[in-house]
Amino acid sequence: MKIKVDQSKCIGCGACVSIASKSFKLKEVGDRYKSQPIEPVGDDIKTIKGAVNCCPVKAISLEDL
Ligand code: SF4
Repeated sequence: MKIKVDQSKCIGCGACVSIASKSFKLKEVGDRYKSQPIEPVGDDIKTIKGAVNCCPVKAISLEDL
C-alpha cells in the first residue's frame, strides 16, 4: 500500500499525524506545514484509514501496490 497526500489540498492541520504518527509527518514548506507520507508505512491499515477519514479536506488517498 502506498499513501498519497495531495499537497495542494493539505492545510497542515496535523490530524493525520496525530492518528497515524508512524505513517505521516509534517514537513515545513515555505511558511506553512504539509503532511508527508512516511515510507514504508508504520501503522496498520485500520489506523491509516482512520487518518484518511479524519482529513478535513480529503487530501489523503491510498493506492494498493
Ligand atoms: Fe493535511 Fe489532511 Fe493530514 Fe490535515 S489531516 S495534515 S489536511 S493531510
